[in-house]
Amino acid sequence: LASTRMANNFARMLSSKRNVRILSLIGAGSLTAGFLLNREHVTAGAQARRVYPASAEYPDLRKHNNCMASHLTPAIYAKLVDKTTPNGYSLDQAIQTGVDNPGHPFIKTVGMVAGDEESYEVFADLLDPVIKERHNGYDPQIMTHPTDLDSSKLTSGNFDERYVLSSRVRTGRSIRGLSLPPACTRAERREVERVVVDALAGLKGDLAGTYYSLTHMTDQEQQQLIDDHFLFDKPVSPLLTCSGMARDWPDARGIWHNNTKTFLIWINEEDHTRVISMEKGGNMKRVFDRFCTGLKEVERLIQEKGWEFMWNERLGYILTCPSNLGTGLRAGVHVNLPKLSKDPRFAKILDNLRLQKRGTGGVDTAAVGSTFDISNLDRLGQSEVQLVQTVVDGVNYLIDCEKKLEKGQDIKIPPPFKK
Ligand code: ADP
Ligand code: MG
Repeated sequence: LASTRMANNFARMLSSKRNVRILSLIGAGSLTAGFLLNREHVTAGAQARRVYPASAEYPDLRKHNNCMASHLTPAIYAKLVDKTTPNGYSLDQAIQTGVDNPGHPFIKTVGMVAGDEESYEVFADLLDPVIKERHNGYDPQIMTHPTDLDSSKLTSGNFDERYVLSSRVRTGRSIRGLSLPPACTRAERREVERVVVDALAGLKGDLAGTYYSLTHMTDQEQQQLIDDHFLFDKPVSPLLTCSGMARDWPDARGIWHNNTKTFLIWINEEDHTRVISMEKGGNMKRVFDRFCTGLKEVERLIQEKGWEFMWNERLGYILTCPSNLGTGLRAGVHVNLPKLSKDPRFAKILDNLRLQKRGTGGVDTAAVGSTFDISNLDRLGQSEVQLVQTVVDGVNYLIDCEKKLEKGQDIKIPPPFKK
Protein backbone atom coordinates (compact mmCIF):
# COMPACT_ATOMS: atom_id res chain seq x y z
CA LEU A 1 0.00 0.00 0.00
CA ALA A 2 2.69 2.44 1.05
CA SER A 3 4.66 2.02 -2.13
CA THR A 4 1.63 2.45 -4.41
CA ARG A 5 0.74 5.57 -2.50
CA MET A 6 4.27 6.84 -2.89
CA ALA A 7 4.36 6.10 -6.60
CA ASN A 8 1.09 7.98 -7.04
CA ASN A 9 2.38 10.95 -5.12
CA PHE A 10 5.59 11.10 -7.08
CA ALA A 11 3.73 10.80 -10.37
CA ARG A 12 1.50 13.65 -9.25
CA MET A 13 4.50 15.73 -8.21
CA LEU A 14 6.19 15.28 -11.54
CA SER A 15 3.11 16.05 -13.60
CA SER A 16 2.07 19.13 -11.64
CA LYS A 17 2.52 22.38 -13.45
CA ARG A 18 4.50 23.88 -10.60
CA ASN A 19 7.30 21.40 -11.07
CA VAL A 20 7.44 22.05 -14.76
CA ARG A 21 8.01 25.67 -13.86
CA ILE A 22 10.75 24.81 -11.37
CA LEU A 23 12.45 22.37 -13.71
CA SER A 24 12.51 24.93 -16.47
CA LEU A 25 14.06 27.39 -14.03
CA ILE A 26 16.81 24.93 -13.14
CA GLY A 27 17.46 24.31 -16.81
CA ALA A 28 18.53 27.90 -17.34
CA GLY A 29 22.25 28.59 -17.96
CA SER A 30 24.56 29.00 -14.98
CA LEU A 31 22.04 27.50 -12.56
CA THR A 32 22.53 24.16 -14.30
CA ALA A 33 26.29 24.25 -13.71
CA GLY A 34 25.82 25.01 -10.01
CA PHE A 35 23.28 22.24 -9.73
CA LEU A 36 25.60 19.67 -11.31
CA LEU A 37 28.55 20.73 -9.16
CA ASN A 38 26.46 20.29 -6.04
CA ARG A 39 25.33 16.86 -7.14
CA GLU A 40 28.96 15.68 -7.21
CA HIS A 41 29.32 16.56 -3.54
CA VAL A 42 26.08 14.81 -2.71
CA THR A 43 27.27 11.64 -4.43
CA ALA A 44 30.59 11.74 -2.57
CA GLY A 45 28.72 12.05 0.73
CA ALA A 46 26.49 9.10 -0.07
CA GLN A 47 29.50 6.86 -0.81
CA ALA A 48 31.30 7.82 2.40
CA ARG A 49 28.26 6.77 4.37
CA ARG A 50 28.47 3.22 3.05
CA VAL A 51 31.95 2.77 4.54
CA TYR A 52 30.38 2.49 7.99
CA PRO A 53 27.50 0.21 8.93
CA ALA A 54 24.22 1.74 10.13
CA SER A 55 24.94 0.49 13.65
CA ALA A 56 28.04 2.74 13.76
CA GLU A 57 25.93 5.76 12.75
CA TYR A 58 23.08 5.17 15.21
CA PRO A 59 22.69 8.25 17.47
CA ASP A 60 23.13 8.09 21.23
CA LEU A 61 19.59 8.56 22.54
CA ARG A 62 20.05 7.25 26.06
CA LYS A 63 19.26 10.56 27.78
CA HIS A 64 16.45 11.49 25.43
CA ASN A 65 12.79 12.11 26.12
CA ASN A 66 11.10 12.92 22.83
CA CYS A 67 8.79 10.87 20.60
CA MET A 68 11.44 10.22 17.94
CA ALA A 69 13.85 8.77 20.53
CA SER A 70 11.12 6.49 21.87
CA HIS A 71 10.54 4.91 18.45
CA LEU A 72 13.88 5.01 16.59
CA THR A 73 15.15 1.47 17.15
CA PRO A 74 18.49 0.40 15.63
CA ALA A 75 16.49 -1.80 13.22
CA ILE A 76 14.30 1.07 11.93
CA TYR A 77 17.37 3.29 11.69
CA ALA A 78 19.20 0.68 9.59
CA LYS A 79 16.17 0.28 7.33
CA LEU A 80 15.76 4.02 6.67
CA VAL A 81 19.25 5.53 6.92
CA ASP A 82 20.14 5.21 3.25
CA LYS A 83 16.76 6.32 1.92
CA THR A 84 16.17 9.86 0.72
CA THR A 85 13.13 11.67 -0.62
CA PRO A 86 13.20 12.71 -4.30
CA ASN A 87 14.58 16.08 -3.09
CA GLY A 88 17.47 14.31 -1.34
CA TYR A 89 16.22 14.74 2.24
CA SER A 90 17.56 12.04 4.57
CA LEU A 91 16.56 10.41 7.85
CA ASP A 92 19.58 11.90 9.61
CA GLN A 93 18.45 15.39 8.60
CA ALA A 94 14.90 14.68 9.76
CA ILE A 95 15.96 13.53 13.26
CA GLN A 96 18.84 15.98 13.87
CA THR A 97 16.74 18.40 15.94
CA GLY A 98 15.61 15.55 18.21
CA VAL A 99 19.15 14.19 18.57
CA ASP A 100 20.52 17.62 19.53
CA ASN A 101 17.60 18.43 21.87
CA PRO A 102 17.02 15.51 24.25
CA GLY A 103 14.04 17.22 25.83
CA HIS A 104 12.27 20.53 26.43
CA PRO A 105 11.59 22.09 29.82
CA PHE A 106 7.84 22.59 29.25
CA ILE A 107 6.48 20.13 26.66
CA LYS A 108 7.30 16.64 25.32
CA THR A 109 8.61 17.37 21.86
CA VAL A 110 8.32 15.26 18.72
CA GLY A 111 12.07 15.26 18.01
CA MET A 112 11.91 15.25 14.22
CA VAL A 113 10.71 17.29 11.25
CA ALA A 114 9.80 16.76 7.61
CA GLY A 115 11.86 18.31 4.82
CA ASP A 116 9.17 17.89 2.21
CA GLU A 117 5.79 16.30 1.60
CA GLU A 118 7.39 12.96 0.64
CA SER A 119 9.25 12.68 3.99
CA TYR A 120 6.00 11.41 5.50
CA GLU A 121 5.94 8.50 3.01
CA VAL A 122 9.65 7.67 2.77
CA PHE A 123 10.21 7.69 6.56
CA ALA A 124 6.76 6.34 7.49
CA ASP A 125 8.26 3.41 9.46
CA LEU A 126 9.43 5.94 12.02
CA LEU A 127 6.94 8.76 11.48
CA ASP A 128 3.79 6.64 11.75
CA PRO A 129 4.51 5.45 15.33
CA VAL A 130 5.70 8.96 16.27
CA ILE A 131 2.44 10.38 14.90
CA LYS A 132 0.45 7.71 16.74
CA GLU A 133 2.08 8.60 20.06
CA ARG A 134 1.85 12.36 19.59
CA HIS A 135 -1.74 12.31 18.34
CA ASN A 136 -3.40 10.25 21.05
CA GLY A 137 -3.46 6.93 19.19
CA TYR A 138 -4.32 8.19 15.69
CA ASP A 139 -3.12 5.51 13.24
CA PRO A 140 -2.21 7.03 9.86
CA GLN A 141 -2.21 3.56 8.25
CA ILE A 142 -5.92 2.97 8.77
CA MET A 143 -7.57 6.26 9.76
CA THR A 144 -8.69 9.28 7.76
CA HIS A 145 -8.70 12.87 8.90
CA PRO A 146 -11.80 15.13 8.76
CA THR A 147 -11.80 18.86 7.89
CA ASP A 148 -14.61 21.16 9.04
CA LEU A 149 -14.30 24.94 8.76
CA ASP A 150 -17.98 25.72 9.42
CA SER A 151 -17.61 28.02 12.43
CA SER A 152 -21.41 28.37 12.86
CA LYS A 153 -21.34 24.95 14.59
CA LEU A 154 -19.36 26.31 17.56
CA THR A 155 -21.31 26.74 20.82
CA SER A 156 -20.57 28.84 23.97
CA GLY A 157 -17.61 30.56 22.37
CA ASN A 158 -17.62 33.63 24.63
CA PHE A 159 -15.34 33.47 27.68
CA ASP A 160 -15.61 35.40 30.94
CA GLU A 161 -13.27 38.33 30.28
CA ARG A 162 -12.34 38.65 33.94
CA TYR A 163 -10.17 35.57 33.24
CA VAL A 164 -9.53 35.44 29.51
CA LEU A 165 -7.28 38.22 28.21
CA SER A 166 -6.97 37.25 24.55
CA SER A 167 -8.12 34.57 22.10
CA ARG A 168 -6.28 33.13 19.14
CA VAL A 169 -6.60 30.41 16.50
CA ARG A 170 -3.72 29.50 14.22
CA THR A 171 -2.86 26.88 11.66
CA GLY A 172 -0.16 26.29 9.07
CA ARG A 173 -0.34 25.61 5.37
CA SER A 174 2.41 24.40 2.99
CA ILE A 175 2.69 25.02 -0.73
CA ARG A 176 2.78 21.74 -2.67
CA GLY A 177 5.89 21.29 -4.82
CA LEU A 178 8.26 23.38 -2.67
CA SER A 179 10.45 21.91 0.08
CA LEU A 180 9.58 22.69 3.69
CA PRO A 181 11.70 25.14 5.76
CA PRO A 182 14.17 22.53 7.14
CA ALA A 183 15.20 21.59 3.59
CA CYS A 184 14.21 24.36 1.20
CA THR A 185 16.79 26.21 -0.88
CA ARG A 186 16.99 30.01 -0.80
CA ALA A 187 15.23 30.15 -4.15
CA GLU A 188 12.40 27.91 -2.94
CA ARG A 189 12.00 30.00 0.21
CA ARG A 190 11.79 33.18 -1.85
CA GLU A 191 9.30 31.48 -4.15
CA VAL A 192 7.06 30.69 -1.16
CA GLU A 193 7.19 34.34 -0.13
CA ARG A 194 6.42 35.53 -3.67
CA VAL A 195 3.51 33.13 -4.22
CA VAL A 196 1.88 33.83 -0.87
CA VAL A 197 2.32 37.61 -0.88
CA ASP A 198 1.00 37.70 -4.45
CA ALA A 199 -2.10 35.77 -3.44
CA LEU A 200 -2.72 37.77 -0.26
CA ALA A 201 -2.92 40.98 -2.26
CA GLY A 202 -6.35 39.67 -3.32
CA LEU A 203 -7.83 39.84 0.21
CA LYS A 204 -10.62 42.42 0.47
CA GLY A 205 -12.60 44.38 3.08
CA ASP A 206 -11.74 43.68 6.75
CA LEU A 207 -9.14 41.15 5.62
CA ALA A 208 -7.21 43.49 3.32
CA GLY A 209 -3.70 44.20 4.55
CA THR A 210 0.01 44.65 3.91
CA TYR A 211 3.15 42.49 3.90
CA TYR A 212 6.05 43.49 6.15
CA SER A 213 9.31 41.77 5.23
CA LEU A 214 11.72 41.09 8.09
CA THR A 215 14.60 42.21 5.87
CA HIS A 216 13.10 45.68 5.54
CA MET A 217 11.93 46.09 9.12
CA THR A 218 13.92 47.95 11.77
CA ASP A 219 14.92 46.05 14.92
CA GLN A 220 12.52 48.14 17.00
CA GLU A 221 9.59 47.44 14.68
CA GLN A 222 10.34 43.73 14.85
CA GLN A 223 10.69 43.73 18.64
CA GLN A 224 7.41 45.64 19.02
CA LEU A 225 5.55 43.03 16.93
CA ILE A 226 7.08 40.24 19.05
CA ASP A 227 6.25 41.97 22.34
CA ASP A 228 2.65 42.48 21.21
CA HIS A 229 2.41 38.71 20.46
CA PHE A 230 1.84 39.27 16.73
CA LEU A 231 5.14 37.95 15.38
CA PHE A 232 7.16 34.78 15.84
CA ASP A 233 10.15 35.00 18.15
CA LYS A 234 13.67 35.43 16.79
CA PRO A 235 15.06 32.01 15.81
CA VAL A 236 16.77 31.45 19.14
CA SER A 237 15.11 28.13 20.00
CA PRO A 238 17.52 25.23 19.44
CA LEU A 239 14.51 23.19 18.31
CA LEU A 240 14.31 25.51 15.31
CA THR A 241 17.99 26.07 14.64
CA CYS A 242 18.94 22.37 14.89
CA SER A 243 16.27 21.45 12.36
CA GLY A 244 17.83 23.73 9.78
CA MET A 245 14.82 25.97 9.40
CA ALA A 246 16.55 29.13 10.61
CA ARG A 247 19.13 29.05 7.79
CA ASP A 248 19.63 32.37 5.97
CA TRP A 249 17.52 34.23 8.54
CA PRO A 250 15.87 36.71 7.90
CA ASP A 251 15.89 36.13 4.12
CA ALA A 252 12.32 35.76 2.76
CA ARG A 253 10.73 35.88 6.22
CA GLY A 254 7.98 38.26 7.12
CA ILE A 255 4.52 38.93 8.40
CA TRP A 256 1.42 39.94 6.53
CA HIS A 257 -1.47 41.41 8.50
CA ASN A 258 -4.72 43.27 8.05
CA ASN A 259 -5.01 46.84 9.29
CA THR A 260 -6.46 45.90 12.69
CA LYS A 261 -3.89 43.09 13.25
CA THR A 262 -6.66 40.54 13.79
CA PHE A 263 -5.77 38.39 10.76
CA LEU A 264 -2.08 37.62 10.32
CA ILE A 265 0.06 35.39 8.18
CA TRP A 266 3.63 34.47 9.05
CA ILE A 267 5.82 33.55 6.13
CA ASN A 268 8.72 31.07 6.25
CA GLU A 269 9.15 30.56 9.97
CA GLU A 270 8.59 26.92 10.98
CA ASP A 271 6.12 26.46 8.12
CA HIS A 272 5.70 28.01 4.70
CA THR A 273 2.75 29.88 6.17
CA ARG A 274 1.04 30.23 9.53
CA VAL A 275 -2.45 31.69 9.37
CA ILE A 276 -3.61 33.41 12.56
CA SER A 277 -6.80 35.03 13.78
CA MET A 278 -6.58 36.79 17.14
CA GLU A 279 -7.91 39.63 19.26
CA LYS A 280 -7.96 40.85 22.83
CA GLY A 281 -10.75 39.55 25.08
CA GLY A 282 -12.73 36.34 25.19
CA ASN A 283 -14.71 36.25 21.96
CA MET A 284 -13.37 32.94 20.60
CA LYS A 285 -16.48 32.62 18.44
CA ARG A 286 -15.64 35.77 16.47
CA VAL A 287 -11.96 34.79 16.28
CA PHE A 288 -12.89 31.37 14.85
CA ASP A 289 -15.40 32.93 12.39
CA ARG A 290 -12.68 35.18 11.01
CA PHE A 291 -10.18 32.31 10.98
CA CYS A 292 -12.49 30.15 8.82
CA THR A 293 -13.52 32.91 6.43
CA GLY A 294 -9.96 34.19 6.03
CA LEU A 295 -8.38 30.77 5.62
CA LYS A 296 -10.86 29.69 2.92
CA GLU A 297 -10.25 32.95 1.09
CA VAL A 298 -6.45 32.50 1.28
CA GLU A 299 -6.77 28.97 -0.14
CA ARG A 300 -8.97 30.21 -2.98
CA LEU A 301 -6.46 32.94 -3.88
CA ILE A 302 -3.50 30.52 -3.78
CA GLN A 303 -5.37 28.11 -6.06
CA GLU A 304 -6.26 30.97 -8.39
CA LYS A 305 -2.50 31.48 -8.88
CA GLY A 306 -2.13 27.80 -9.86
CA TRP A 307 -0.78 26.43 -6.56
CA GLU A 308 -2.27 24.21 -3.88
CA PHE A 309 -1.72 23.23 -0.26
CA MET A 310 -0.05 19.95 0.75
CA TRP A 311 -2.82 17.66 1.95
CA ASN A 312 -3.83 14.01 1.98
CA GLU A 313 -6.73 12.20 3.59
CA ARG A 314 -4.67 10.21 6.09
CA LEU A 315 -2.54 13.07 7.42
CA GLY A 316 -4.70 16.09 6.62
CA TYR A 317 -2.66 19.24 6.00
CA ILE A 318 1.06 18.50 5.80
CA LEU A 319 3.31 20.69 7.95
CA THR A 320 6.96 20.72 9.04
CA CYS A 321 6.46 19.33 12.53
CA PRO A 322 4.49 16.07 12.82
CA SER A 323 2.77 17.55 15.88
CA ASN A 324 0.94 19.95 13.56
CA LEU A 325 -0.42 17.46 11.03
CA GLY A 326 -4.15 17.24 10.39
CA THR A 327 -5.78 20.54 11.17
CA GLY A 328 -2.51 22.27 12.12
CA LEU A 329 -4.83 24.06 14.47
CA ARG A 330 -3.86 25.53 17.82
CA ALA A 331 -6.75 27.42 19.39
CA GLY A 332 -5.80 29.08 22.63
CA VAL A 333 -6.39 31.78 25.16
CA HIS A 334 -4.24 33.75 27.53
CA VAL A 335 -6.08 33.03 30.76
CA ASN A 336 -5.43 34.08 34.33
CA LEU A 337 -5.79 31.23 36.84
CA PRO A 338 -4.03 32.25 40.09
CA LYS A 339 -5.64 29.63 42.32
CA LEU A 340 -6.08 26.67 39.96
CA SER A 341 -2.54 26.93 38.61
CA LYS A 342 -1.17 26.41 42.14
CA ASP A 343 -3.44 23.41 42.76
CA PRO A 344 -1.65 20.03 42.49
CA ARG A 345 -4.55 18.73 40.32
CA PHE A 346 -3.99 21.35 37.58
CA ALA A 347 -1.77 19.17 35.35
CA LYS A 348 -4.11 16.18 35.54
CA ILE A 349 -7.15 18.35 34.79
CA LEU A 350 -5.44 19.80 31.69
CA ASP A 351 -4.41 16.34 30.54
CA ASN A 352 -7.89 14.88 30.88
CA LEU A 353 -9.36 17.83 28.97
CA ARG A 354 -6.71 17.30 26.22
CA LEU A 355 -5.31 20.80 26.81
CA GLN A 356 -1.70 22.04 26.76
CA LYS A 357 -0.25 24.90 28.78
CA ARG A 358 2.51 27.28 27.62
CA GLY A 359 3.95 30.54 28.94
CA THR A 360 2.40 33.68 27.48
CA GLY A 361 5.57 34.52 25.53
CA GLY A 362 5.24 31.35 23.44
CA VAL A 363 6.32 27.74 23.51
CA ASP A 364 9.82 28.45 24.84
CA THR A 365 8.85 30.72 27.70
CA ALA A 366 7.92 29.89 31.28
CA ALA A 367 4.67 31.21 32.68
CA VAL A 368 4.81 34.75 34.07
CA GLY A 369 2.69 35.02 37.22
CA SER A 370 -0.44 32.95 36.83
CA THR A 371 -1.37 33.75 33.22
CA PHE A 372 -1.02 30.86 30.79
CA ASP A 373 -1.50 30.10 27.12
CA ILE A 374 -3.98 27.21 27.22
CA SER A 375 -4.67 25.44 23.91
CA ASN A 376 -5.73 22.13 22.37
CA LEU A 377 -3.21 19.30 22.62
CA ASP A 378 -4.49 17.37 19.57
CA ARG A 379 -4.45 18.42 15.92
CA LEU A 380 -5.09 15.23 13.95
CA GLY A 381 -8.12 12.95 13.67
CA GLN A 382 -10.59 15.61 14.77
CA SER A 383 -11.93 18.54 12.77
CA GLU A 384 -11.23 22.23 13.35
CA VAL A 385 -14.74 22.69 14.79
CA GLN A 386 -14.28 19.78 17.23
CA LEU A 387 -10.89 21.03 18.43
CA VAL A 388 -12.02 24.62 19.01
CA GLN A 389 -15.08 23.23 20.85
CA THR A 390 -12.72 21.17 23.05
CA VAL A 391 -10.84 24.37 23.95
CA VAL A 392 -14.05 26.33 24.58
CA ASP A 393 -15.50 23.63 26.84
CA GLY A 394 -12.18 22.94 28.55
CA VAL A 395 -11.33 26.58 29.28
CA ASN A 396 -14.86 27.16 30.59
CA TYR A 397 -14.28 24.19 32.91
CA LEU A 398 -10.98 25.70 34.12
CA ILE A 399 -12.66 29.07 34.79
CA ASP A 400 -15.41 27.29 36.75
CA CYS A 401 -12.74 25.57 38.86
CA GLU A 402 -11.03 28.92 39.48
CA LYS A 403 -14.34 30.43 40.63
CA LYS A 404 -15.01 27.48 42.93
CA LEU A 405 -11.55 27.75 44.49
CA GLU A 406 -12.14 31.50 45.02
CA LYS A 407 -15.24 30.59 47.07
CA GLY A 408 -13.39 27.88 49.00
CA GLN A 409 -15.39 25.11 47.28
CA ASP A 410 -13.95 21.79 46.09
CA ILE A 411 -13.14 20.99 42.47
CA LYS A 412 -13.16 17.69 40.56
CA ILE A 413 -10.75 16.16 38.08
CA PRO A 414 -12.92 15.57 34.98
CA PRO A 415 -12.92 12.05 33.45
CA PRO A 416 -10.44 11.53 30.58
CA PHE A 417 -11.68 13.00 27.31
CA LYS A 418 -13.46 10.42 25.12
CA LYS A 419 -12.94 10.44 21.35
P1 ADP B 1 2.55 28.98 17.77
O1 ADP B 1 1.99 27.66 18.14
O2 ADP B 1 1.55 29.83 17.10
O3 ADP B 1 3.86 28.93 17.05
P2 ADP B 1 4.06 30.04 20.02
O4 ADP B 1 3.92 29.34 21.34
O5 ADP B 1 5.31 29.84 19.24
O6 ADP B 1 2.78 29.65 19.18
O7 ADP B 1 3.79 31.58 20.23
C1 ADP B 1 3.80 32.48 19.18
C2 ADP B 1 3.33 33.85 19.63
O8 ADP B 1 1.90 33.86 19.74
C3 ADP B 1 3.86 34.27 20.99
O9 ADP B 1 4.21 35.63 20.94
C4 ADP B 1 2.67 34.10 21.90
O10 ADP B 1 2.69 34.98 22.98
C5 ADP B 1 1.52 34.45 20.98
N1 ADP B 1 0.24 33.87 21.44
C6 ADP B 1 -0.10 32.56 21.51
N2 ADP B 1 -1.34 32.40 21.99
C7 ADP B 1 -1.84 33.64 22.23
C8 ADP B 1 -3.08 34.16 22.74
N3 ADP B 1 -4.11 33.36 23.10
N4 ADP B 1 -3.19 35.50 22.86
C9 ADP B 1 -2.18 36.32 22.51
N5 ADP B 1 -1.01 35.90 22.02
C10 ADP B 1 -0.81 34.58 21.89
MG1 MG C 1 5.90 28.49 17.41
